[in-house]
Amino acid sequence: MPFPERLTKGYRTFLAGRFASERARYQELAGLGQSPSIMVVGCVDSRVSPEVIFDAAPGELLVARNVANLVPRYEPGGGQHGASAALEFAVRALKVRHIIVLGHAFCGGIKAFASDDAPLTSSDFIGKWMSQIAPAAEAIGPKNGEAEEAYLRKLEFASVELSLKNLMTFPFVLSAVDKGELSLHGAYFGVASGRLLVRNERTGVFEPVGD
Ligand SMILES: [Zn+2]
Repeated sequence: MPFPERLTKGYRTFLAGRFASERARYQELAGLGQSPSIMVVGCVDSRVSPEVIFDAAPGELLVARNVANLVPRYEPGGGQHGASAALEFAVRALKVRHIIVLGHAFCGGIKAFASDDAPLTSSDFIGKWMSQIAPAAEAIGPKNGEAEEAYLRKLEFASVELSLKNLMTFPFVLSAVDKGELSLHGAYFGVASGRLLVRNERTGVFEPVGD
């Protein structure tokens, strides 16, 4: 099958539009290298592109996306730790000032964890990857007759909380936060409403912003 026509068309639009208008910025970034001050850990979900949601220009956001926007616990040795490598690059090499864990509504990864239906069982890659949110599920307790959607939403918030906790298990994150050089934030995008909630650092409540 040929390269998707949709992409060639989109690229032409980009080249004539955004690239043309931001050519100087691209050239400067190529010469000086990138120095984004913000890292976003987002989900692979096609509806939740951080650059789109935050209206970001090239070079502004270092984005690491994985299934369900998870930050694993610090685990040196063994395994190919893609998420941790991106984090290390952002904090140690680029010295970002902020890390945002961006959760979202209707997350397929979270749903897969909660339902454990075929073909996404605990023996698949997604099942194994998502098993790391077990502590988040424990924290919110069992479903107890709650509506599915309400439970999944709680689990989506709790998994952002867990990722924020896991971030602090990385020695270089802990040290940068302690020195006041790095702040960690939780956020949540409501796909249908377009509403962005940001976690209040003091209360832990996700509150709307930008209204
Ligand atoms: Zn997701």
